[in-house]
Amino acid sequence: MNPELAAGDLVQLIDSKGRRYQGVLTSGKEFHFHSGIITHDELIGLPEGSSINSSRRQSYTVVRPTLSEFVLKMPRGAQVIYPKDLGPILMIADIGPGVRVLESGVGSGALSMAMLRAGAEIVGYEIREDFANRAVANVERFLGAEALERYSVELRDCYEGIDESGLDRVVLDLPEPWQVVPHASAALRPGGLFLAYTPSVMQVSQLRESLAANGFFAAETLEVLNRGWHVEGQAVRPDHRMVGHTGFLTHARRSAPPPGE
Ligand code: SAH
Repeated sequence: MNPELAAGDLVQLIDSKGRRYQGVLTSGKEFHFHSGIITHDELIGLPEGSSINSSRRQSYTVVRPTLSEFVLKMPRGAQVIYPKDLGPILMIADIGPGVRVLESGVGSGALSMAMLRAGAEIVGYEIREDFANRAVANVERFLGAEALERYSVELRDCYEGIDESGLDRVVLDLPEPWQVVPHASAALRPGGLFLAYTPSVMQVSQLRESLAANGFFAAETLEVLNRGWHVEGQAVRPDHRMVGHTGFLTHARRSAPPPGE
């Protein structure tokens, strides 16, 4: 990617306190802060990582946001899955180029974006039209129109069934994933992977029972803890605060039906 910023780029300005502001560079527009103005035209053509002063002499550093940074700032309808869980989901569900995924619900599209960027082809089922639209808009904004060729979101209830067949993956973030398990069992190819994100451990118990009863094997549940560190001179220690809980990740694989079935 060209290091010089161009009109149409999504950029992020970071101030001396680490606060982040995002916007799309458009010639003639301005960023307005308490500490003054920076015009987009001043930024266009600068290399990423440049520092620039606002009209009131406050310094900002300009970069293109990473996917994690975009996810934390993007417009949301539903609560998103956080980057600390998105990364592991890509590995655990083994998402890669050409992998066919059924995702439900799509919410704000954070998980969709992570999987699309890894190369997946996604059909999403979402019951709320406003969320579906928001997810598609977020995907297009960060990944561009090309990603939409591998992403179609349908307005429908995943508890009522899955039309696709021979899927490689079913990835869920909705309240009652056990209601989807029989449909996922029919829609996944043998050896296909199932993964669900659930905030509550009561959901985990019910889900695991349903997976065991519907032809899945090698089920596992885990949570991802991410503890930041404070590093300043001789004071090198874990941060006092951390995100203590987001959700549990439960995954399993579809077994092949016995010969003759
Ligand atoms: N993983 C998403 C957030 C999903 S929030 C992200 O990272 O951005 C949960 C979503 O599931 C909501 O948008 C909700 O509308 C949707 N949902 C709930 N029940 C559903 C169902 N039965 N079928 C399809 N979508 C459903």
